Amino acid sequence: MSWELVIGLEVHVQLRTAEKLFCSDSTAFGAEPNSQVCPVCLGLPGALPVLNGEAVDLAIIAALGLACQVHEVSIFARKSYFYPDLPKGYQITQFSEPLATEGMVSVRSDGETRPIRIRRIHLEEDAGKSIHDRVPDGTAVDLNRTGTPLIEIVTEPDLRTPAQARTFLQELKRTLEYLDVSDCNMEEGSLRVDANVSLRADGSDAYGVKTEVKNLNSFSAVERSVVAEAKRQAGILDAGGEIVQETLLWDERDGTLRSMRSKEESHDYRYFPDPDLPPLRFDAERIRRLEAELPELPAQRRTRLMEEHDLDGRDVDVLIASRSLADYFEALVTVVGDAKAAANWVKGPLLKEANRLQLPVDDLGILPRDFGDLIGLVEDGTVSGSMGRKVLGQMIDSGKTAREIIEKEGLSQVQDSGELNAWVDAVMEENSEEVERYRSGETRLMGYFVGQTMQKSRGRADPKAISALLRGRLE
Ligand code: ADP
Ligand code: MG
Repeated sequence: MSWELVIGLEVHVQLRTAEKLFCSDSTAFGAEPNSQVCPVCLGLPGALPVLNGEAVDLAIIAALGLACQVHEVSIFARKSYFYPDLPKGYQITQFSEPLATEGMVSVRSDGETRPIRIRRIHLEEDAGKSIHDRVPDGTAVDLNRTGTPLIEIVTEPDLRTPAQARTFLQELKRTLEYLDVSDCNMEEGSLRVDANVSLRADGSDAYGVKTEVKNLNSFSAVERSVVAEAKRQAGILDAGGEIVQETLLWDERDGTLRSMRSKEESHDYRYFPDPDLPPLRFDAERIRRLEAELPELPAQRRTRLMEEHDLDGRDVDVLIASRSLADYFEALVTVVGDAKAAANWVKGPLLKEANRLQLPVDDLGILPRDFGDLIGLVEDGTVSGSMGRKVLGQMIDSGKTAREIIEKEGLSQVQDSGELNAWVDAVMEENSEEVERYRSGETRLMGYFVGQTMQKSRGRADPKAISALLRGRLE
């Protein structure tokens, strides 16, 4: 029997606000445990929630950017459950009437574009955190995160492979970053994913029983856990068994799944409208204003960069990977003028440096103006391309400008023919055997001679001038 995999995702995203959703406590990450709490987020008797309008704006922006229908009226509801990190005993969320519905994200994978439908986006507050490594033999609770604003983005079960799920999440994350509604920092838990997984017989229309995999803190965890869960389910179904609807926990270290609880139904949560909060209403005007101010999204930017700078799609895909990278590239183009040169320098050397230091390009400490200056020095022949790449690394490490480094280290390309000739002489003398072989027809040795001469010049010779000289001397 062959099975088709069906995946639906629930993504929790922390909104980028300074204050919590219903009180003015700070949302900053990493503070002393339980230092950012107040009667409201602790749910002390008599404390009343007051809605943070900035969080609502960010949620609307996210919904609009994901092509959702934003509703002028939505309702906050209490979701009741008992857990140590939930001091009120309920979470304020939205249930039957969410903020937004019916959105869409286009996912390009394996050369085809697939629309993945967003079922709903709702606003809710985050819970606290249980901490297992701070108190010996015990679990401690940190409530700083309690009440932090989240949106939950729920997809339809439209994804069919683990790789598609990953690509969807990358596209979603990038869109949210472009919209600037969240820092999307997965290590800090600003973007958390639950994956719903089921199998159905190939060709069948009905969905199979699903399980929900929780605790996925990276894209690779999503991909790997879905692969593991699909395999587990296939094993059960192939043996004639039935899938039990349940919630599973992914263990990233040993790559295993374990059952956390049998699946609860929504009625178990006793949802009801929160009596402390009126329906969330906004007029169409507010939605229209936010829509008019939406920033450019990745797909639009891709088209614009291709058209404006006559770049090809594959190059542009690299450049728009993040909004900060695309911004950097565009700033560089205004300095350098030549978009293709700027694109090549960003895609290759700059991203290599970013990768070496594990930093985004705008944190490398090299301004587009200074980078542009270096590119100019390569284009006018002051230094060679490979020397330019080395200088780039030194600029980043030392904070010095290209000119300072080139001058101080004497890296300017040597044009003086006396010096060039001396290097070529030395190389020919030291490699007399290779010279013979070249002369008897082994012309591919040219690259070797150029390399030797470049080495002798410590990279300062102009490789084109060297080739010309060598050719003249060897033939
Ligand atoms: P629940 O009632 O448990 O909340 P929903 O039907 O509301 O389940 O869907 C929750 C998530 O599970 C959604 O992302 C949805 O796309 C996904 N989902 C629903 N049914 C399936 C299925 N059979 N296989 C995989 N994912 C599913
Ligand atoms: Mg849910």
